[in-house]
Amino acid sequence: MSRRPDPIYLDHHATTPLDERVLEAMLPWLRESFGNAASQTHVYGWRAAAAVDSARERIAEGLGARDPSEIVFTSGATESNNLALLGLADADRGRRPVVTAVTEHPSVLDPCRALARRGHPVEFLEVDPLGRVDPAAVAERLQAETLVVSIMAANNEIGVVQPIREIAALCAERGVPFHTDAAQAVGRIDLGAARDGIDLLSVSAHKLYGPKGVGCLVVRKTGRPRLRLEPRQYGGGHEGGLRSGTLPVAAIVGFARALELCLAERAAEAGRLRGLRTALFDRLCQALPGRVLLNGDPEARLPGNLNVSFAGVDGDRLLADLSGIAVSSGSACSSALPEPSPVLLALGRTTAQAKASLRFGLGRGTTPQHVDVAVASVLEAVARQAPAA
Ligand SMILES: *Cc1c(COP(=O)(O)O)cnc(C)c1O
Repeated sequence: MSRRPDPIYLDHHATTPLDERVLEAMLPWLRESFGNAASQTHVYGWRAAAAVDSARERIAEGLGARDPSEIVFTSGATESNNLALLGLADADRGRRPVVTAVTEHPSVLDPCRALARRGHPVEFLEVDPLGRVDPAAVAERLQAETLVVSIMAANNEIGVVQPIREIAALCAERGVPFHTDAAQAVGRIDLGAARDGIDLLSVSAHKLYGPKGVGCLVVRKTGRPRLRLEPRQYGGGHEGGLRSGTLPVAAIVGFARALELCLAERAAEAGRLRGLRTALFDRLCQALPGRVLLNGDPEARLPGNLNVSFAGVDGDRLLADLSGIAVSSGSACSSALPEPSPVLLALGRTTAQAKASLRFGLGRGTTPQHVDVAVASVLEAVARQAPAA
């Protein structure tokens, strides 16, 4: 039986393929070097512990942390976000206020909603029509007793890069902890935990060509305000007691290698992706004059992100009519639901505009030929629909 070739992958915000060089680095730790890094009585354990130590140092360096001990390995950014927000709240036991934004990832919004149900006043800041959080709006909501401000570094749908350095500085002035979900930002934009004043930083390896199921939370250890986190998971006291559970050594080794590669290639790759992204957008605009609406800030956005709405297009049919490319509409997490993307609605898009949108996530494997295919696919899908009045 013949099978149609797989569509071209243009969904790098959902996940990225494992880099071959990362897989190579991981393999020994899946085969002969299978020890438990917590075993202190034999060489299997020592070897695994040394690999984790080395990975921790390289990840700390890559993320601009002050010390390797600030890295807490987790299963990914979802867990890191939950640990940061609920961990702070559980250690405090008060009902201190929380500030976040409406365009955050569900793994930030949902813990914040849980805190609201527990009696914390939670401010979900609106964004401007380009998707940006206004630092002045954060400043207005800040109080000395604010538990945490959580604003993502870069958005997973519209790629908008938030002014986190300014927001972090405002938080520091008031002595309020600042958390950022940097799952999309790490390896794609210039970022440094200590340099940028980030107290808590969430990272996921599978967004940077590493393995799925691993990530970290950077937790600042020195300086003010002092951070106290209650673990979400108790047990053997791994990760300084903050996250018990046997460490996935191979995944951690892969995470470190993936991050190094991303950082080494970041500048060149950003330029290349920006070129491809601009070509894709320009060609769609030329082919469909006046019908392509850019979602999110044209400048402050991830180099590989393009999110557009098509005027006069039935959003419910758009994805079904697209062949040849793998993209998403709205957020991948909610794309099974017929709901329009809350992020696009927050920009002021109508329900129809939000539904008739596509998120292109260009990445390491994307070529100019892929852009050709993407343009052709979109034009074909649009042509298949009744022409707009
Ligand atoms: C992918 C993503 C997450 C979730 O990360 P996992 O490691 O898959 O749990 C959180 N936030 C953002 C912005 C993301 O893009």
